[in-house]
Amino acid sequence: MTTAPRPNPTADNLAKIDAWIQRLADETDHAAHSADLTRYLQTVSRFYSYSAHNCALIALQCPDATRVAGYRAWQALGRQVTKGAKGIAILCPAPIKGKTDAGDDAVIALRFRTGYVFDVADTDGVPLPALTVHAVAGERYDALLRQLVEIAERRGLRVSFKDRLLWDANGVSYGDGRIDLKATNPAGNLCKTLCHEWAHERVHRAEDRHTFTTQQAECQAESIAYCVCQALAIPTPNTPTYLALYKVSRATLAANLDAIRAGVAALMQEIAPALDAVRAA
Ligand SMILES: [Zn+2]
Repeated sequence: MTTAPRPNPTADNLAKIDAWIQRLADETDHAAHSADLTRYLQTVSRFYSYSAHNCALIALQCPDATRVAGYRAWQALGRQVTKGAKGIAILCPAPIKGKTDAGDDAVIALRFRTGYVFDVADTDGVPLPALTVHAVAGERYDALLRQLVEIAERRGLRVSFKDRLLWDANGVSYGDGRIDLKATNPAGNLCKTLCHEWAHERVHRAEDRHTFTTQQAECQAESIAYCVCQALAIPTPNTPTYLALYKVSRATLAANLDAIRAGVAALMQEIAPALDAVRAA
């Protein structure tokens, strides 16, 4: 059987993609100014950002950790480390001060000492502000998710569903074709997360991930997922807040527009059978 060549989605959908990104920029602006996000960011800014080495140490000792902080940092957040809680050992830089030849005070050496942090599960007290996550559920999304996973697997990706992911993430892309999704999330949310991780797999392969900043990579993957979800008629109520969390602005979206356009076109080509089913419905 011969089929007509599929029209090039880049040419077909460019105007549509640009309109979606425009709308996403408006929604992200709006999310960035919400009281919910401001309160959340004020708290998050008190969590120290750990080095890759310390993240590995934390993951090794406490794979279920979601939010970790030192004893005093928890107190400052109105929470107390529970009695008998086992700390997670990390390495803390300990600068050694001395005098330069000219007699000025300076750091003359850098040593590391062991410090301890605790997971939120080992603390009690004032609840941490959380961001509202909107559920997208329904039978339509169950079917769509099954179809998308099937296409992904056919296209060489390996999709696994896990009850719990490191750092409480909704999805993980390893850059080598493996994708993990959080099994307990609603199907509509999972469809979006799958598209997000799928975009990472195609645009940010493990070997060239270091060439992207986190903000760039997240801006591209989430915006690509947003557009693909528009085409699949899946609501994406959490995307603007997600982008605002990474401080993505209208200017960031504009700077990444070419990568997003190309990513959307490529992903839409890959999921063509799912798109056809949506159009036919
Ligand atoms: Zn991501």
